[in-house]
Parts: sequence; C-alpha cells; structure tokens
Amino acid sequence: TGPVIIVGAGHAGFQLAASLRQSGFAEPIALLNDEGHLPYQRPPLSKAYLKGTGGPDSLMFRPDKFYQDNKIELITDRAHAVDRDARKVALASGSSLDYGHLVFATGARNRLLDIPNAKLDAVRYLRTLDESEALRHLLAPGMRVVVIGAGFIGLEFAATARGKGLEVDVVELASRVMARAVTAEISEFSQSRHTAAGIRIHLGVQVTGIEADGAKVTGVSLSNGVHIPADLVVVGVGVLPNVELAAEAGLPVASGIIVDEHLATADPNVSAIGDCALYTSRRFGGSLRLESVQNATDHARCVAARLTGKTEVYDGLPWFWSDQGPDKLQMAGLTTGYDRVVVRGDRAQGAFSAFCYRGDTLLGIESVNRAGDHMFGRRLLGAGGSITPEQAGDPGFDLKSALS
Ligand code: FAD
Repeated sequence: TGPVIIVGAGHAGFQLAASLRQSGFAEPIALLNDEGHLPYQRPPLSKAYLKGTGGPDSLMFRPDKFYQDNKIELITDRAHAVDRDARKVALASGSSLDYGHLVFATGARNRLLDIPNAKLDAVRYLRTLDESEALRHLLAPGMRVVVIGAGFIGLEFAATARGKGLEVDVVELASRVMARAVTAEISEFSQSRHTAAGIRIHLGVQVTGIEADGAKVTGVSLSNGVHIPADLVVVGVGVLPNVELAAEAGLPVASGIIVDEHLATADPNVSAIGDCALYTSRRFGGSLRLESVQNATDHARCVAARLTGKTEVYDGLPWFWSDQGPDKLQMAGLTTGYDRVVVRGDRAQGAFSAFCYRGDTLLGIESVNRAGDHMFGRRLLGAGGSITPEQAGDPGFDLKSALS
C-alpha cells in the first residue's frame, strides 16, 4: 500500500489510524489535524462539555503518547491540494507528503446564516471544541438566547442552556422539531418536554433579521412579525460536507465525496469516510451521506480492513443518539419511507419507542429513554431481522425471543 495519509483527525480519521495499527498495518501513517487540539469527540460539545463538567482532556480520544507509541504521525496542518498523478498532498505550511493511499476524512462545517448582522460576535455556531468552549464561558443565568434550528444540535444546546438558567427561544422553519430525522411521535414528545422545561419553541417561521445596537445583538425578528429580544443567537441550521479538496483534485463529488460500496473514490488510491462521504449502500439501495459517530467509525474500520487485505462491502447499520436535557433519544436503522408507526412503551411515562414500518418490514426504531429497545433494534436490524407490527405493539411480546 505504501504510506497512508488521512486528511482530517475527527471521529473517522482518528479511528482509521487506530484501526490500521490494530490490524497490524506497518507502513507510515500521517494524520492531518487542522484543529489546535489532540483529536477529540464532538458529541459532548453540546451536552456534558457545554454544561461545564470537564476540561478539554476529557474529550480527547487518546493522550499524545498513544500517537507516539503507535507511530501515528499527527501533523498539525491543513491539506491544501492533492496531486493524484504524483500522489502528493501539499500542506498549507508549504511542505508536501507522498502517499500510497489517501483518505479524505474531512468531515463537515457549519452552514452559515446569510442574513444581515449574522457576522456579529454574539451570533455563534457549535461544531468545534473552540466554539463549545467559548459558548460555555459566555452562557450566564438570565441571558436571553435565540436558537435558530430545532435539529439535534439546536435542541441539545437549548436544553443545556435552559439548564444553566438562560431564557431560551428556539425558531424552526419546519412544522415540528427534528422533522427531517424522526417521526412525529418523537417530535411531539420532545417538543412537550422542552416546552415543559420553559423553552419557547416557534415552529413554521423563519428568522428574517437580527437586530443590533452597534455591535451588540438586541433581538431577532421572525417572518410572522414576532420580535424576540436576545443577547445571543446560536445557529444550528445544518452542515456542509467538506468536499472542495477532493473536487479540486478532480474526484467526483455531489452532496458528498462520491465513494462506492467499499468507500473507494473513482481513484483506487483514494478513499473517503465519515461525514464527508456519499457512499453507495447495498443495505439501503442508494447513495447515503450520514452524520454520526457510528457512520464515521464503522467507515474507518471498513477502510482499515481493506488496506490490510480484508476487502469487504461496507454494511454498517446506522444508529445515533441525542441527549436532550434528561431525555435520551436513540435511533437504530433508517426510518426514511416508513408508512406505519407502532408505539411500544409508555409515552405518558416518558419511556417509549416508535417502531417504523414500510408495509410489514421494520425499517428502524426510535427510542426515548428505552435503551433496551434500541439495543434490540441494533441487533435485530443489524442481522437483517424483523418482527411484525403486532409483535412490536404487544407489551407481552418478549423482544429477546426474536433474536435467537
Ligand atoms: P469531523 O468530526 O467533522 O472531522 C473532520 C476533521 O477534518 C475536522 O477536524 C476538520 O477540521 C478536518 N479537516 C477538514 N478539512 C481539512 C483539511 N483540508 N486538512 C486537514 N484537516 C481538515 N453524532 C452522534 O452519533 N451522536 C451525537 O450525539 C452527536 N452529537 C454531536 C454534537 C455536536 C455538537 C456535533 C458538532 C456533532 C455531533 N454528532 C453526533 C455528529 C458527529 O460528531 C459527526 O458525525 C462526526 O464528528 C463525524 O466525524 P468525521 O471524522 O467524519 O468529521
């Protein structure tokens, strides 16, 4: 194979380097890291870390010594350009590296708000450790924050901010929270919990302007004429995959860097993994680009296997979690295209799952505070199994019996 260069040291890049060494890969590995920290986990940035319960070290995948011990050359630099004919990566600092195999693990970046005043200091985003760190120092009881976007990150942030005693409004264009990702059952439950916690949620409206007095944000105006006073605006309107470097190197990109079912690009010496990769899924019969830790780490393990001689089709079962205040949401499988939802558990008690079906085929399970259902879903769906809607809806049906 020759030396492997991994561009990006997030969940995917880190896992690839670690898995390569675990699999006995003996050639040089360079892991390009353009953030000023050792590679770290992102999920706590909107949860435990933002609450202020740990230092940056609590986020690191491994200490510095791990990279030295495993001969993983962690290079603090950005890949600037790729010459695929010469198999060279030019770095922003001016030097260059030769590769035998190149892996894009470039992740995604915040989608920026494009309205007047969006560049003011009190308009913030949440993707990196630096952004989370800055926010947690900024949040103070009584402060008024408007969160734009009721997706996972917007709601996680909102719950954490409310827990810290802030006045929180969430503004969402869709007619329900997390509309793109979960069923109406979960959206409604989540909305009621956030509302009960004192968060005001505005649905079906757009932010049309950010008002300011000089450099100071004073409020936000909405498309329905409502004006919300605010000291801080946090934007969670999704991300854009980092595809530009691959595109400039002449590789096909669409809503991600296009890779096949082995996660290889059109160039057999180049792969792409994690948030940046638009991969061909045999399991789901189409192209998928997912944003989750599961997707990033399973992609990484699949490419590590291929580079150490065990080529396999990527077939990871998608799963995801989101902690919002006291509630744990967990998703197993992909529920796109469902036509029937069977609820198991007790909505009123705040512990239930939505089993999503297309016809009689179970597509996925969304759980709230029902970790057992979630683990069941991962095992069942991962093995290609299903249970009938009647079984799912029968509290007396023993899920474990379906696994044997
Ligand atoms: P990233 O983590 O984005 O890493 C890519 C890295 O590449 C970045 O450091 C980037 O700066 C770097 N890079 C880009 N271009 C270059 C270049 N040219 N040269 C060098 N480096 C470059 N997922 C879950 O499953 N559960 C959760 O609860 C959850 N919570 C989240 C909370 C937050 C606040 C965020 C932001 C994400 C959360 N996610 C969660 C999503 C999850 O973190 C991502 O799916 C995951 O980080 C993707 O990993 P990645 O390595 O593909 O990309």
